[in-house]
Amino acid sequence: MTDFTKGHPPMGFATNGLMRHTSERGDDALARHRHDPQARIVLFAGDIPILRHTESGLSALHPAAIRGALPVAEEVYLGTLDGSHVLALLTAADQLEAFERDGTCFVLDLRSVATQGLVPEREAGMLAEAKSLLSWHARHRFCANCGAPTRASASGFRRDCDACGTQHFPRTDPVAIMLITHGERILLGRQARFPAGNYSCLAGFVEPGETVEDAVRRETFEEAGVRVGEVRYMLSQPWPFPSSLMIGCHGIAADDSLDIDYEEMEDVRWFSRDDVALMLEDRHPDNLRTPPPVAIAHHLVRLYLAR
Ligand SMILES: [Zn+2]
Repeated sequence: MTDFTKGHPPMGFATNGLMRHTSERGDDALARHRHDPQARIVLFAGDIPILRHTESGLSALHPAAIRGALPVAEEVYLGTLDGSHVLALLTAADQLEAFERDGTCFVLDLRSVATQGLVPEREAGMLAEAKSLLSWHARHRFCANCGAPTRASASGFRRDCDACGTQHFPRTDPVAIMLITHGERILLGRQARFPAGNYSCLAGFVEPGETVEDAVRRETFEEAGVRVGEVRYMLSQPWPFPSSLMIGCHGIAADDSLDIDYEEMEDVRWFSRDDVALMLEDRHPDNLRTPPPVAIAHHLVRLYLAR
């Protein structure tokens, strides 16, 4: 019998080695460490992370000197890693070509970097943090209250509007993702855009004025017609496309009848534990599978099977 608790690959973006030093963010932290020659830089050109070849593989951390030659669109003080200050830096997307030509750098979209496990685990969460923050700056240049330009403050963790005094904070969008069970069976579904054979946990954004538990119940009923009773939190995952927080839950279905919303879902099914175990290990006879370890759904399924 497979031991689902041992030796599993890590969940994407879930490990972040940074000390954040939130109390030091007053504008000084970024100003003080911006030109520190010992600082490390996490670099994005547009939405694309720029990685560095090192003797032990790829790394998200660049030496401080890389800052000198680049046009800086946005920067954020992230905190410290092994005692070094770490800054996130956004440069123009048109710098990508130069990085692609530079033999010391490696350029690939962040989703692929995580899926292929290309950086050390503790740097993956840091890349997610940098991506969400830098994307937020790039897309929130003007005040949502009065329309005037805003400026970055609090070492990059806030934007201030000098015209009306409003402070804007980085957004995090909560998404409920749920492993629904009925007796020993597990509810999984697929959207038409999924790779062939892939079945995953149902999921949806938590709406204003809604608890996570109610979002689990509502989304499951809307997508599959299944009524859910008890809901328990399991684990969560930052998902930086652009700034979601996946909140993984286990929900107990009140009954097993299905009424599938085919606008949203291509298929939803109850699977046996044995089927799901084979899907998790990519050994299912019908080539059905669960998402890879980069996705929280993989870990919700694995943790449930391990119980
Ligand atoms: Zn304003």
